[in-house]
Amino acid sequence: MVDRELDVLVIGAGVGGLAALHLLRAEGLRVRAYDAAGDVGGVWWWHGHPGSHLDTEGPAYQFSFCEELYRDWGWSERYPAGYEVQRWLRFVADRLDLRRDLALRTRVVSAHLDDARGRWTVRTDRGEAIDTRFVVACTGLLPGPAADLATDDFAGTVLRTSDWPEGRHDLAGRRVGVVGPGTAGVQLVPWIARDTAHLTVLSCAPVWVVARSNPVYGWAERDAYRARFTELRTTLPTTTTGDRYEPRHRPADLEPAERRALLEDLRRDGSRRLWLDGLTGLGTDPAVDAEVTAVVRDAMVARLGDPRLVDALVPADHGVATGPVALDDGYLEACARPDVDVVDLRRDPIAAVRPEGVVLASGAVHDLDVLVLAEEPDAGAPALGAIDVRGRDGRALDPSASLLGLAAPGFPNLVTTAAPPAPTSRHAVMTTVREHQAAWIARAVRDLDAAGCATLEAVGTGPATVDGVGDYLARCAAEAAAGYPSFRRR
Ligand SMILES: Cc1cc2nc3c(=O)[nH]c(=O)nc-3n(C[C@H](O)[C@H](O)[C@H](O)COP(=O)(O)OP(=O)(O)OC[C@H]3O[C@@H](n4cnc5c(N)ncnc54)[C@H](O)[C@@H]3O)c2cc1C
Repeated sequence: MVDRELDVLVIGAGVGGLAALHLLRAEGLRVRAYDAAGDVGGVWWWHGHPGSHLDTEGPAYQFSFCEELYRDWGWSERYPAGYEVQRWLRFVADRLDLRRDLALRTRVVSAHLDDARGRWTVRTDRGEAIDTRFVVACTGLLPGPAADLATDDFAGTVLRTSDWPEGRHDLAGRRVGVVGPGTAGVQLVPWIARDTAHLTVLSCAPVWVVARSNPVYGWAERDAYRARFTELRTTLPTTTTGDRYEPRHRPADLEPAERRALLEDLRRDGSRRLWLDGLTGLGTDPAVDAEVTAVVRDAMVARLGDPRLVDALVPADHGVATGPVALDDGYLEACARPDVDVVDLRRDPIAAVRPEGVVLASGAVHDLDVLVLAEEPDAGAPALGAIDVRGRDGRALDPSASLLGLAAPGFPNLVTTAAPPAPTSRHAVMTTVREHQAAWIARAVRDLDAAGCATLEAVGTGPATVDGVGDYLARCAAEAAAGYPSFRRR
């Protein structure tokens, strides 16, 4: 017994799910999107904690499939806060009238193929069974754990940055410990340090940070970037990161002093330009990594002052090319406050979480009312892996083995977006990636119907890696243009 029949069932209503719902519906298909969250927005709904921010400049983090949609939204800052990104996605859902085909607070628990009929049966945690021709999984990534901690004995409150809808928790006047902290902690800490009674930063892996410059955007700035809509639409899908920047300066063309001056200028810009718009060879040439890393390290050391904090918070075992690099809003200054303790867990790990707080291996005890686990999306953990997906002969899906991150052999008409080698946000602007994946899916379905076929199935997997966003999207486009040679269409 099924409750509903669809052409396409989309899982997820974040950036990817909303683009897929809109673009597939525009093909005249019966489409419905399901999301476990309480509203649209994906991670931006889940990560509504203080300090949640884009590190991509707002003008690059928008959809380009509709110029009116682009022009009618205006960011209030160069780097919008998470709640503003979520508001933008609410605006997208309302403007495109997507809500009539959206089921929120509904988790998809299984998707099983009926191979004989070439259709899928999808079940939700509300007990609904849906019969659908295509499943499009825009499920994003699962949060990576901040630390392997057993917190059951803690008498206070345990919070996770990955499950923090906007405005839900008030930390004012409380003794708070932040474990992680990774880039999620870098974003959270400066915004709560002012209000907590006491803050303990329990750091297990320091992160490279560059002080963010986040000017307010008024009418003039909005007009300026809106005027570049066509240019952005054309260039973003072709660059390595899906951003408008691409390294332009060959190290050999500049004297050492000129290179240092260039890198210092880019650092002062308070943006990702230091590593996206600077010297070529970052990531492949260790000498370039060393030069860029020195600029970031020197600025961090100057901001921190205290050698004990430098030891705890400045990475020493890797450069910026391999580690996450985050923009920060006063993270280092917050850590240097007299009412903030920084604990280097690499030297003194957590031995146990007790009712009163955390106990370190040295025996030191940090009394806490609230323990925050600073979790962020884990590039190695597609959320699709948490759904019981069964393809031909009841085989379970392995989201890590796919064709271009889009499809897998034995799973006809199942399309995914967040599987490798599709670029992840550490290296990419995800609106660029997801929008073009959604457009690819809509085109593939249209082409399938035009060819009089019912199913689309990958015949193999690969490639394991791609060379950035431009390369990835070009490979997807080439596959479609060539008539889907890596797929079987029946
Ligand atoms: C704090 C933070 C800062 C970031 N900064 C940037 C940045 O500067 N630039 C950038 O490009 N990216 C950034 N990102 C990455 C961000 O994840 C992507 O930009 C983008 O939002 C991913 O969209 P998505 O649709 O692929 O996945 P998600 O936004 O993760 O959406 C997936 C949705 O699927 C739903 N879902 C999953 N499984 C199920 C299920 N079984 N049933 C029902 N629903 C399900 C989830 O509830 C979720 O709402 C940031 C992320 C965070 C958390």
